Amino acid sequence: MRNLILVTIISGFALFACQNQKKQSENNMENPFFNEWKTTFGVPPFNEIKEEHYIPAVTEAIEQNQDEIEKITGNTDDPTFGNTILALDKSGELLDKVTGVFFPLNSANTNDSMQAIAREISPMLTRHRDNISMNPALFGKIKEIYDKRNSLGLNDQQIRVTTKYYEDFVRNGANLSEENQEILSSINEELSKLSLQFGENLLAETNKNFKLVIDDEEDLTGLPEDVIMRAAEDAKSFGEEGKWVFTLAKPSMIPFLRFSEKRNLREKLYRGYFMRCNNGNEYDNKEIIKRIIELRDKRAKLLGFNNHAEYIIDVNMAKTPEAVYDFLLRLWEPAIKMAKQDVKKMQAIIDREGENFELQSWDWWYYIEKLRKEQFDINEEEVKQYFSLKNAKNGIFYVVNRLYGLNFLKRDDLPTYHSEAEAYEVQEADGSHLGVLYMDFHPRDGKRVGAWSTSFRDASYKDGERVPTIGTIVMNFTRPTDDAPALLSFEEVTTFFHEFGHALHGLFADGPYDRTAGRVPRDFVELPSQIMENWAAEPEVMKVYARHHETGEPISDELIEKLQKSFKFNQGFIMGEYLAAALLDMDYHTPENPDIADVLAFEKQSMDNIGLIPEIIPRYRSTYFAHIFSGGYSAGYYVYYWASVLDTDAFNAFKETGDIFNREYAAKFRELLEKCGSDEGMEIYRKFRGKEPSLEPLLKKRGLK
Ligand SMILES: [Zn+2]
Repeated sequence: MRNLILVTIISGFALFACQNQKKQSENNMENPFFNEWKTTFGVPPFNEIKEEHYIPAVTEAIEQNQDEIEKITGNTDDPTFGNTILALDKSGELLDKVTGVFFPLNSANTNDSMQAIAREISPMLTRHRDNISMNPALFGKIKEIYDKRNSLGLNDQQIRVTTKYYEDFVRNGANLSEENQEILSSINEELSKLSLQFGENLLAETNKNFKLVIDDEEDLTGLPEDVIMRAAEDAKSFGEEGKWVFTLAKPSMIPFLRFSEKRNLREKLYRGYFMRCNNGNEYDNKEIIKRIIELRDKRAKLLGFNNHAEYIIDVNMAKTPEAVYDFLLRLWEPAIKMAKQDVKKMQAIIDREGENFELQSWDWWYYIEKLRKEQFDINEEEVKQYFSLKNAKNGIFYVVNRLYGLNFLKRDDLPTYHSEAEAYEVQEADGSHLGVLYMDFHPRDGKRVGAWSTSFRDASYKDGERVPTIGTIVMNFTRPTDDAPALLSFEEVTTFFHEFGHALHGLFADGPYDRTAGRVPRDFVELPSQIMENWAAEPEVMKVYARHHETGEPISDELIEKLQKSFKFNQGFIMGEYLAAALLDMDYHTPENPDIADVLAFEKQSMDNIGLIPEIIPRYRSTYFAHIFSGGYSAGYYVYYWASVLDTDAFNAFKETGDIFNREYAAKFRELLEKCGSDEGMEIYRKFRGKEPSLEPLLKKRGLK
C-alpha cells in the first residue's frame, strides 16, 4: 500500500512539475540536485535528499543533456574536437550527479518506493541513451573528426577518446544502412526478450519448482547444527513447519552436499540443481538458447565480425577468441590432471570405507571434505577469532599505507545515507586530499546481498581542475554480537580486500576525458581488486593484522600454514568446473554453424572435446548458464580467470624483488591504476610489468605446478 501511494505521489509530482513552470522553479530551489553542494569535499547532502527529489531531477537532467546534444548537432561550424568530442564528453553533468546518488543507494539502502522510482527512471534513461547513441547527426560529426583524427594536430589522448566514441557508435550499428539498422534493432529487441525469459525460467526452476523436503530426522545424518537450523527456518518460510527444507540456492545446497551422509539425497538434490530448465516443461531453456545463439551470430556478422566472440572480445584486453582459447586450455590441462588425481584419492576413501560404488558428481563435496580433514583440519571458528572487522580494516590500511603512503581518516562530520555507513577522507602521504571513501559493512533490510564497490562521484576534470572520487564499498559481513565484535571468515576478509582494490582503482583514476579516465575493458577490471587479495593472504601481512580479538596475540604459524594449504586444496575441481563453463561459453559463441540442432548434444560434444571427466559437471550447464544467456557475460565468462592470471603475475612482480611492499613497483602499479584508461589493456600492463603476463605464478599459487 505504501508503495502504491508513494508511486502516485511521485508521478503526480512529475506531472505537476511539467505543467507549472513557476512552481517548478520554487521546487527546484528545494531540490538539492539543482544546487551546488556546499558539504565538505562536495559529498552528497544525504540528509537533505528526499525520495521525491529523484524523478524531477532525472527529468530535468535528461532535458539538459538533450539540450547539450542538440547544441552539438545544431552547431553550423565545422565539427572540431572541442565543439563535438569534448562537448559530448563533458555533457550530462546533472545526470551523473543524480544517478550517481540514486543507483548506489538503491542497492545499499533501498525500499519499495526507491524500487518504484528505479522502475520509473530506468526506461527513461534507456530511451535517453538510445536517443544519443542512435543520433545520426551526432554520429556524422564524430565520424568526420574520427576520419581526420591523425591530421588535426590532436594529441594521443584526444585521438584515443575520439576513437572510443566512434567505436561505441559503430558497435551500436551507427555505420549500417537504414535497412540493416532496422534489422539490428529487431535482433536486439528479440535478444533482450529471450534473455529476460531465460532468467525468469531459471528463477522459477531454482526457487519454485524444486525443493528437498526432509521429514525424517534420520535423513539429517552428518549435517552440522547450524545447517539443520537453517533448513528448519527455510521449511517454515515454505509452510513446512516442523520439517527441513533444502533448496537449489548454493548456501542451502552446498552444505548439504558437503556433509550429508545420505548419498541418495545428495543425488536427488544435485540432480535438481543440474537439471534446471532442462526438464521439458514450460521453463525449459533449450529452444531459447538455440535462438539466442543464432541471433547473436547474425548480429556479429551484420557488424562485420565472423562471430559473436570476435565482436565481444575485440574491445577486451585479450583482443581475439584465439587468445582466450589459448589461455583457457593452458590452464585446463594441469587443472583436469589434478582433478583426476583427487578422484583417485576420493575413490580410495570410498573403497577403504567398504562402500561399493564409483564416485559421482554428487559425491564430490562430501568426499573432498573427508580428504581435506585427512590432509589438514582447519577449524573455521578458530580462524575467525583472529579476523575481527577492526583487524581486517587495520590490515587494509596498513597494506595501502606501506604501498602508496595513503592515510584514511574517519570523518564522523560527513553526512551519510545510513547510521552504519562510515565516511573516510583519503589523504596522500603529504596530507593532501585524494578523495572520500564510504564503507558499509553489515547486512540489513534494504541492502542487496553480496559485496560491491561503486561511487557517488567519479574523478574527472572540470575547468582544468581535478574533481576527486567519492567512492563507496558495501558488504554483508557477519554482525557483532552482544559479547563479541564482528568476526569475519577469511573469505570475508578476502572480499573486503577485493572491494577495497576496486575502490582504490576509482580513487586513483585520472585522465582528462570522462570516456576514458579509469575506464578499462571487462577482462581488466578485476585486476585492481584481485591483486589486493594477495596481500591479505601473505603470512608477513597476517602477522601484522590477524590478532586474536581478546588477547591481541598474532595468529600462529600453524594456523597460517593451514590457511596456506587451503588455498591450494581442491583446485582441480574449482578450476576445472570453472574452465569447463568458460570453454563452453566460447564454443557457443564461435560457431561454424550457428544453427544448433540439439543443445544437449552440443554441450556434450564441447565437453568431450576438452576431456571433461564425468565426476565434474561444468559450473554452469547450458540451460542455467545465466551469465552468458541472460547476464552480460557472453563470450566473457573467461574474464575472472584472465584477471587471476594478471593479478597473480602482477603480485609476483613484487615478490620477485623479495619485498611485497616494493615502493618502485607500488609506484608503477599506482600509475597503472591512474592511467589504465589511456591505452590498450595489454600495453598498460606491459608498461607496469615490462613483459606480458605469465600463467606460471597462478599455477604455482593454486598448487598445480
Ligand atoms: Zn570485483
